[in-house]
Amino acid sequence: MAEIPKTRRRTKSREWFTRAQESLVEGVNSPSRGRAVYSLGPVVIERGAGSHVFDVDWNEYVDFMMAFGALIHGHAHPAIVDAVVQAMSEGSHFAACTVPEVEAAERFRRMVPGAERVRFANTGSEATMLALRLARAHTGRAKLLKFEGQYHGWYDPYLLNAHAHPPEALGPPESPARIPDSLGIPEGVFADVILAPWNDVEQLERVFREHGSELAAAITEPVMANLGCIPPRPGYLERLRELTHAAGALLIFDEVVTGFRYAPGGCQQKFGIAADISTFGKALGAGFPVGAVAGPRAILDRMEWHDPMVLHYGTFNGHRLTMKAVAANLDLLMANEGAAYKRLNELGDAAIHGLRDVFRRRRVDAIVQGFGPMFQIYFTDRPAIHHYRDYCAHVDTRKYSYFVHLLLERGIYMTPSNGLHWIISTAHKPADIDQLFLVADEACAALG
Ligand code: PMP
Repeated sequence: MAEIPKTRRRTKSREWFTRAQESLVEGVNSPSRGRAVYSLGPVVIERGAGSHVFDVDWNEYVDFMMAFGALIHGHAHPAIVDAVVQAMSEGSHFAACTVPEVEAAERFRRMVPGAERVRFANTGSEATMLALRLARAHTGRAKLLKFEGQYHGWYDPYLLNAHAHPPEALGPPESPARIPDSLGIPEGVFADVILAPWNDVEQLERVFREHGSELAAAITEPVMANLGCIPPRPGYLERLRELTHAAGALLIFDEVVTGFRYAPGGCQQKFGIAADISTFGKALGAGFPVGAVAGPRAILDRMEWHDPMVLHYGTFNGHRLTMKAVAANLDLLMANEGAAYKRLNELGDAAIHGLRDVFRRRRVDAIVQGFGPMFQIYFTDRPAIHHYRDYCAHVDTRKYSYFVHLLLERGIYMTPSNGLHWIISTAHKPADIDQLFLVADEACAALG
């Protein structure tokens, strides 16, 4: 691939990234932010306002990454800033019962279907960890059904086949090769994990025939968001719901990405499917670190203090500032009868259609997949990407990375990792997506 033309001054970004590498592993605090993804080194970000970010060299970008989806109202929304700044002067955290956590929980329960109870944690990973422990305790079973290509955080039992691999390494769909995503996980951890392809009803029915009675739970992202954006095939999630129910296993919807994004009640509401347990993070905190597990009393109350019980501790659970941000965030989302969702969906759909037009006009083999406020671009000759195996075999992730670097050089901020997705926030304006179309058009011309 041709060298990326450097059109923007990056002197200070380079200086800071060099310094960062002296103290931090690879100069970052998560591998998704460093050289594994940004071939020129990351842009060091200094400030954000609404839908825009500024780097340390004062280059301005329209931000479509939005902190991996955490910023549903963009950067420094005045209502979030006010709520947190005022609370800060009263004391940041007490690790005690507080008013803000009650107010946040009440709003949460009004929005999320089936949330008789909610438990707050600090990250999506913590939420999915807890969901699995609750499911195992509730069913008295150990096994977990996990789908290829799905990511549920960095907890040991979830960390296999989340990363893409060459198709020849994947094994047959009825018996996928089990590929850990990290060193340091004893093999025994995966003994209770059943791995299956996603979006494939035949394989799903086979798994339930063979293992249904042993399963504590099946966990799924309702829209796959860690290989870009892959919606479920019609009827797939409904069948998963029927099969888990019939097997006495719990259905966990991992809504860490989808929650509060597609609808007030996430994909449970969007698709009309009731999960037994749902997990949240990202958009719930409007930029503050948060995770949440929701479900019926019969399951969540297993955490009540008696012997035996499901243990979930955490010094920072229900952090006071975070709870203030959560309540302000949910108020914004529900204001004017949920006008925010109309805006997110309309602007997102316009971005998707406009990008498709650009690729069509420029005769670039690329599809834009998703709907509303979350989507991804795949350089592929396929009409759609339905699952992990499609992604591993048919998506040119190097071309995508090159394309995004071209955008970065022209004022669009996005991660070059094809596994992530484009995010529309309520702060985005039609002018932002017009700029995206212009820049994408230029980048297509530069792709050659
Ligand atoms: N579940 C899903 C579906 C996710 O996408 C992520 C993060 N990308 C997580 C869980 C983990 O969340 P966190 O990074 O907040 O730990």
